[in-house]
Amino acid sequence: MTAVAVAVLGALWYLFWSATGTGPVAIAYLFMPAGLIAAVLAVRGLRRSTPLTPVARQFWRTLETACLLLTAGYGVLAAAAFATSPELPAMPGPAVVLAGAGMLLAMVAVARVPLGVASWYERGKQALDRTIAFLGCTVLLWHFGLAPMVASPTAWSTPVLGILLLAFVFAAGAITKVSYIAGGPVDRVALRLIAASGLVAAVVAEAGVAGGEDGPVVAQALCMPLVPVLVAVAARRQRRTADAPPARRGNVWLPYLAVLAVDIPVADMLIGPLDPGDRLWEIRVVVGVAVTVAALVTLRQYLSFRENNRLLREKRESEARLRHEADHDALTGLANRALFRRRLDAALAGGAAGATVLLVDLDDFKTVNDSLGHDAGDELLVAFAAALAAATGGDGVVARLGGDEFAILLDEEDRGAAVADRVMAMTAASFGAHRLLVHVSAGLATATPGTAPSALLRAADTAMHVAKERGKNNWVRYARDMERTAQAHAALGGDLRRALDAGEFRVVYQPLVGLADGRLVGAEALVRWLHPERGVVSPAEFIPAAERTGLIVPLGRFVLRETCRQAAAWLAAFGPDAFAKVSPNVSVRQLHDPDFVADVRAALADAGLPADRLVLELTESAVLRGPQMLHVLRELHDAGVRLALDDFGTGESSLSLLRAFPASIVKLDKSFVDGIELDELGTPAAHARQAVARAVAQLADALGLDTVAEGIENQEQADRLRAIGYTVGQGYHLGRPVAPDEITARMAAEQRSRAGSAAA
Ligand code: C2E
Ligand code: CA
Ligand code: CA
Repeated sequence: MTAVAVAVLGALWYLFWSATGTGPVAIAYLFMPAGLIAAVLAVRGLRRSTPLTPVARQFWRTLETACLLLTAGYGVLAAAAFATSPELPAMPGPAVVLAGAGMLLAMVAVARVPLGVASWYERGKQALDRTIAFLGCTVLLWHFGLAPMVASPTAWSTPVLGILLLAFVFAAGAITKVSYIAGGPVDRVALRLIAASGLVAAVVAEAGVAGGEDGPVVAQALCMPLVPVLVAVAARRQRRTADAPPARRGNVWLPYLAVLAVDIPVADMLIGPLDPGDRLWEIRVVVGVAVTVAALVTLRQYLSFRENNRLLREKRESEARLRHEADHDALTGLANRALFRRRLDAALAGGAAGATVLLVDLDDFKTVNDSLGHDAGDELLVAFAAALAAATGGDGVVARLGGDEFAILLDEEDRGAAVADRVMAMTAASFGAHRLLVHVSAGLATATPGTAPSALLRAADTAMHVAKERGKNNWVRYARDMERTAQAHAALGGDLRRALDAGEFRVVYQPLVGLADGRLVGAEALVRWLHPERGVVSPAEFIPAAERTGLIVPLGRFVLRETCRQAAAWLAAFGPDAFAKVSPNVSVRQLHDPDFVADVRAALADAGLPADRLVLELTESAVLRGPQMLHVLRELHDAGVRLALDDFGTGESSLSLLRAFPASIVKLDKSFVDGIELDELGTPAAHARQAVARAVAQLADALGLDTVAEGIENQEQADRLRAIGYTVGQGYHLGRPVAPDEITARMAAEQRSRAGSAAA
């Protein structure tokens, strides 16, 4: 390292010179320019040999130029020294200009190194910190360096003082800057070394003051050559770490050190042997800086205080958010199961009574999800959750326990029924963009003294399942005997599965008869369960369980295939005229099955039955399930299958439904047929029933639909219905549901009698 060698030479020469006093003193002035040349070469070597980022390259190039200017300045000074030898030279004008320009350029180089701070707020805060630190440094350098020089009896020429002042400012600025550089293209340590070179100037000044007569010699030979050494070492350092080092945290303690730094000159002036009369201006500068620093620190504290407050607030907010997320359902925003359970525990703490739980379950939600997709399902849940909250009316806890199951916790018993009624009323509306009609089943249970939370929930759950069994879309209050029923139903569900696998189901057929001539026009297919122990079980008993468990889908598929097969057999045996159609019943659950239409087509194709021989019986509650159902029904209709509206007249919107629904047959419910023959002595209720029967017939006629009157039990009813306008009837009087053989026999008899009458 040439620069180091030069510095060592300078020190050796000084020792020799001060010991012997031989040789021209002007030699002292040679070491600085020589060292600087070495530094310039070191920087140039770095630039040539090492790949640098553009930022680093610019820094080092600027620094190199600064060193060249300094070299020139100190070269001029050295020349002046030899000219004036043995007198010490005054700094010539060109030397001042060149050295000053070099110093300024070095400042520019350091100033342009980016800090790597993005936000303007952070940058502002740092600028404040750096100003504080800068002032702290400056006041130290001022008090111990420049001011004593200005006051010293040795005459320091103004240009020299100017150069030194620049060096001070450079040192203070560079130190405060580099302590904030967390890393980046210019090596951190290298930058610090460069900044430290500015400090050398302060030492030079001190040496100048302390060294008395020999001061300039000490400065030139001993101190100044350290500047190029630092630059050269810095260049070497950068060469080693050409890649950007990992970023580190900026400086946090520097402003506090700066405050301390301001205190040192103040303390020094307090205790020192200072005559205020002499150096009042110096005291003014120090006190002025101290006041400014105090003001800036206050401002800085205020900013930190505000920032801390903001961080605290954000922390509190995010904690609150986390707490809310932990306790609430993300989709609907309702309380989740955990929070509901905590509230329930609290309400029942100490064996308190009166707390009431309403469990609400969306009927057939799964089918909505399966047929319309999860987005539609989610949308429905969100809308329904909002409606539930509204129905509860503020107090009480509304929670989503999971899936399509909701719960409401009320603290008084009396409100339970009212809220349950409101929830039911709400479901008359349609929800979400798909305008889905939802039906819900709800169970209500109230705690008696000492009821455990889990027991209360179980009771509400039992009540809810009873509600589902009673045909859904209603609510039920828990009663003790429900437990047993629930168990029986659960057992039934399991038994059904087994029965399906064991082939215990049969299809029977009930004749549909022309009311005018008593001839067979079709048959309704009705399923029977031949239970090994209980004998024949009625569908009224097991269809609800099959619907609840989903077994209705495979069971319905069995009935459909069996019916199609049987009808095709009849068609083959008796020809197209003998038998118009067969009609199996279809549950809403089957309609929601995405494979349903394909199943129907396959059943027809496999049996070889023309589609127009098949009538599917649907209840209006099935059809009312929204536009997606209508789509399935249209597909069936387009496939040539006919649709019958079963139990017609029992629902609310039957009449308006007829226009939208692609039905070809309307089946008047048995409840309108019962007692229809008694009109002369009848009650107002009987009159109303008759009026409905009449209206349905007229409407069907107007819309071009066929009609079937159900549940005809005597001839009077048949006559009356025929008179009103019904063409086809069904009922025990016209024919009970029977095994297919009996239908076959009846068809054969009819065919014979037709052949007979034709022959006659
Ligand atoms: P539904 O579709 O209204 O069928 C008519 C029911 O009324 C049958 O009861 C039938 O036996 C009965 N019935 C017929 N005429 C008379 C009468 O004159 N008087 C009286 N009191 N009753 C009469 P069933 O076979 O017990 O079926 C009950 C219900 O079970 C059916 O009502 C239907 O909704 C359902 N069901 C039957 N089979 C199936 C099936 O295969 N799939 C589906 N999804 N449901 C079925
Ligand atoms: Ca039916
Ligand atoms: Ca019916």
